[in-house]
Amino acid sequence: MTNCRLCNNKLLLINNFGEMPIANAFQNKVNNAQFTFNLQTGFCNKCFMFQLIDQPPPEKMFHQDYAFSTRSSMFMIKHFQNVAKMIKTNFISDPDDNVLEIGCNDGVMLEQIQKYGVKNIGVEPSANVAEKSQEIGLEIINDFFSEELALNMKNNSNYFKVIYASNVICHLPDLNDLCKGITKILKKDGIFIFEEPYLASIIKKNSFDQIYDEHVYFYCILSLNNLFQNYNLEIFDSEEIWTHGGSMRYFVSFKGKYPKTERFRNSLHKEVKLKLDREETYLNFNKNCEKIKYDINQTLADLKNKNNEIVGYGATSKSTTFINYCDIGKYINFISDTSHSKINKFTPLSNIPIKDYSSFQESCHSFTILFAWNHMKEIFKKETEYFDNGGNWIVYVPEVKIISKEEIE
Ligand SMILES: [Zn+2]
Repeated sequence: MTNCRLCNNKLLLINNFGEMPIANAFQNKVNNAQFTFNLQTGFCNKCFMFQLIDQPPPEKMFHQDYAFSTRSSMFMIKHFQNVAKMIKTNFISDPDDNVLEIGCNDGVMLEQIQKYGVKNIGVEPSANVAEKSQEIGLEIINDFFSEELALNMKNNSNYFKVIYASNVICHLPDLNDLCKGITKILKKDGIFIFEEPYLASIIKKNSFDQIYDEHVYFYCILSLNNLFQNYNLEIFDSEEIWTHGGSMRYFVSFKGKYPKTERFRNSLHKEVKLKLDREETYLNFNKNCEKIKYDINQTLADLKNKNNEIVGYGATSKSTTFINYCDIGKYINFISDTSHSKINKFTPLSNIPIKDYSSFQESCHSFTILFAWNHMKEIFKKETEYFDNGGNWIVYVPEVKIISKEEIE
């Protein structure tokens, strides 16, 4: 059994999802010899951090062909433009105030910050997306963020009013190193803002598909408070946001710099009520995961026995955990997706063909599994014709359910 990555306390094993490929490792052809690792989670009852027990080496996950690009999603472009506006409006007041983004991907947020005339630097380890940021004129350091990198920046007199990261901090296995790095280059009145999938949301929705190789930690205020207090940092504000099926945006400063907000206190109170600091919560979560696995298998086997054709909607990274843990690849004819980097490829390990959007419109399947469940409302609105033609959706968050037209009317 492994120890907590943060405080070295013995971890309690929670989920064992079995052998899992890299969630984003979409294959050019059917491949039965893919890299896998054992996807397991553990809970630390001392610092309350819910975490992966093993994580594949970073070069297996973030590399030249890293598939995710922010600009491929209109939702995310809009989201990051709003983030830039929020940072500019609330935290930038002096011409010297500058912004660092850790994991800036293809630079959507910083491009907007630049348009506001605010000085900025991006750090991005994946070369292909870092190049895209450089092409639009942004200053990018193509590296992983670390204390060492922060020290180099400090030597060049780079101190930041705002350090921002989205869906990145949960990727970094050494959080102590991150905190040391942040404290080196954050101005005295600076703000470290980061947003990540929210543990409370995962537990409430049983959305275990958020658990995959890239996400080594699943955060809540209770666990982050324990981490930050070691570095003279504290969360003073928090904002629940809709991205990735339920995320939290944390606002962190040096201790005592800013008053704690009402919504921060409310969120903390909710976490205590949800018992995110108790083992029983996580053991119960695992039971719910096992029930969903059982239910989806029953449902799909039954539909297949009645000769129904089943397809999937959205070849998401999340779906890799769901498909492989539940072992449902055998039921699914294909998954449709609109992203060019995925079309005509095959899903990791389960080898399900990924087809373009027109395949979804043209085929006469009556059941579609919604893997992009975090966009459920928009998708149901867009696909009214599918409903009208008698199509049914299968959702699995927070439980397995078939949704027909009558169901939502
Ligand atoms: Zn711990």
